[in-house]
Amino acid sequence: MSDSGGFDSHPHVALIPSAGMGHLTPFLRLAASLVQHHCRVTLITTYPTVSLAETQHVSHFLSAYPQVTAKRFHLLPFDPNSANATDPFLLRWEAIRRSAHLLAPLLSPPLSALITDVTLISAVLPVTINLHLPNYVLFTASARMFSLTASFPAIVASKSTSSGSVEFDDDFIEIPGLPRIPLSSVPLAVMDSKSLFATSFLENGNSFVKSNGVLINSFDALEADTLVALNGRRVVAGLPPVYAVGPLLPCEFEKRDDPSTSLILKWLDDQPEGSVVYVSFGSRLALSMEQTKDLGDGLLSSGCRFLWVVKGKNVDKEDEESLKNVLGHELMEKIKDQGLVVKNWVDQDKVLSHRAVGGFVSHGGWNSLVEAARHGVPVLVWPHFGDQKINAEAVERAGLGMWVRSWGWGTELRAKGDEIGLKIKDLMANDFLREQAKRIEEEASKAIGVGGSSERTFKELIDKWKCNN
Ligand code: UDP
Ligand code: UDP
Repeated sequence: MSDSGGFDSHPHVALIPSAGMGHLTPFLRLAASLVQHHCRVTLITTYPTVSLAETQHVSHFLSAYPQVTAKRFHLLPFDPNSANATDPFLLRWEAIRRSAHLLAPLLSPPLSALITDVTLISAVLPVTINLHLPNYVLFTASARMFSLTASFPAIVASKSTSSGSVEFDDDFIEIPGLPRIPLSSVPLAVMDSKSLFATSFLENGNSFVKSNGVLINSFDALEADTLVALNGRRVVAGLPPVYAVGPLLPCEFEKRDDPSTSLILKWLDDQPEGSVVYVSFGSRLALSMEQTKDLGDGLLSSGCRFLWVVKGKNVDKEDEESLKNVLGHELMEKIKDQGLVVKNWVDQDKVLSHRAVGGFVSHGGWNSLVEAARHGVPVLVWPHFGDQKINAEAVERAGLGMWVRSWGWGTELRAKGDEIGLKIKDLMANDFLREQAKRIEEEASKAIGVGGSSERTFKELIDKWKCNN
């Protein structure tokens, strides 16, 4: 219904992201796409955000899209000590989840659909079911990770012992219709059954069947077999349709035009084509001091030119140390002739699209991997936590990247400088990966082009929402 009481052919869609740039970024890109497809959009936000980057991102988005209605969701007081977790982003998901029953007044006038972050779905569904409002999930990692998340409740049930503990008697998890997942790739926090992550992971995993559909920032050429298996309902009985709508495109409002970006672009302009390895571990991962030094040694021993984004703390608001203090004078001096190191937010899209960049060392955050796919840049994935090993498997299967299983989880083991150097050399000299990455880039562009798989899927969804008006 339109505000005037008549029927409106433009769907009105609300979106509720959770915490962290890895979640906010795909939500805002999706919101921008919906606006471009003439949908009315409401963005439900919570403040203060955990990181400064999130606050800036929302503010730039709202300035660029004044037609979007922003609604602030006031959370109930939350005692972090009441949750079995320390990660500030995870604690924020939990704070939103515990307030979710208060969402109803924000979900008016009548909406065509709500799109809910995967981390919130089990808490938000009771509200939307009550309102008869279709509720779609935006899954912020790979389709392969989704296949694990959706099957995990049944897997746990089949492995539970009479004493209530869960025992995995094999080194792999079997998922019907898909290549099995090594137990060592399952997020560590999921295996700790009492952790907040594990309990909400199970609750959310159980909820997909009650949602109306799942949107994923992926596309056919990147994860064809997984998407086919998911939509053939082979993975989990009763799963709603999975809509691959990626790659979600970065928007104008994300572009940076600051002195640091100018410096980076100027430096890249002076480097030969495909010669630079870009090293970044996303928005919320700082390596230990020791690992940072080893990585520096590895970059130097690789002999490759590099652009390296260093982080001193996981949360940007707390990251006050200077680059010199984090790297040390000696490493800073050695690096000067071979690479550029920065310690601030970079415009990753501009970097990955630069002709000088020929490889990417990434932690395996899904947004970063899809961005690499879109620009045809081969990746060396170095997983540190969460979904990152499973995402690494996905890009390895697609031919976009490689990863070193013996490095384990970066938060647990330390990779040595010389090994890092050798792998970076491999990455930069790997013609096969380079060709595959170029093919995937072309496929990404076809997927979102007119008549492409993701474009058709997106339109199909919007048509469905028009019927909900
Ligand atoms: N990002 C960026 N500049 C930075 C760090 C991160 O633009 O300096 C963006 C990156 O392009 C991606 C997002 O932040 O879109 C990070 O999401 P991802 O899923 O890759 O990793 P996370 O930060 O969630 O671990
Ligand atoms: N995830 C999920 N259900 C949950 C929580 C997380 O499926 O209840 C997935 C989601 O895709 C998320 C991933 O697990 O992106 C990894 O979560 P992590 O804690 O590593 O945070 P993120 O990298 O998303 O910031």
